[in-house]
Amino acid sequence: MHPGAPGGGRQASGGEFQSPALERLVRSLQQLPGLGRKSATRIALHLLANHEDAAQLTTAVDDARRQVTRCGRCGAITESDPCAICTNPGRDASLLCVVASPVDILPFEKAAFFRGRYFVLGRLLSPLDGVRAEDLPFDRLRARIDEDEVREVILALDTSVEGETTALYVQRLLAGRAIHLSRLATGIPVGGALAYTDEATLQRAFQHRTGVEGG
Ligand SMILES: [Zn+2]
Repeated sequence: MHPGAPGGGRQASGGEFQSPALERLVRSLQQLPGLGRKSATRIALHLLANHEDAAQLTTAVDDARRQVTRCGRCGAITESDPCAICTNPGRDASLLCVVASPVDILPFEKAAFFRGRYFVLGRLLSPLDGVRAEDLPFDRLRARIDEDEVREVILALDTSVEGETTALYVQRLLAGRAIHLSRLATGIPVGGALAYTDEATLQRAFQHRTGVEGG
């Protein structure tokens, strides 16, 4: 039977295909995050039955591996180092937004209101998991702040324990310097119903309440 034909995926649960090559494909797909045996099998059979999709995927992976790199200045995912944000003279170099992951830059760029630049930490401090300050690029962050004469550092980190720990560390790192350090406000989402807001969010929103003009 053609592997892509209906019923091709109905091997006994836990069993293996008679093709070692197909097994290798399924197993390598299973290595991908979020894919179990069932999904990996479905994708493998789809790729065998659809040569064009398979060829496109192979080319896309090859191209991405060859072309994608990280910006040496900010850590963003880019095809040119330094990246277009770091080299754009229209971006305010004195405003630096510190994020944990390069993915965190995307919502800012999509919303297009932030005209400063970024710095990617790559991970958050987590002493319990053995992630210490020396594992994060704090030296490069300090160098970047000096080089660009940064006036304001905006910490756009998760509100998790790791995010809080990292924010506190940066706060201490920059203590005594003429830099305005700020964090993103946390609170009730726009359009969110107050009655359904969890306690921690409500408490933070209350702590970080802002004045109302004329109030
Ligand atoms: Zn960059």
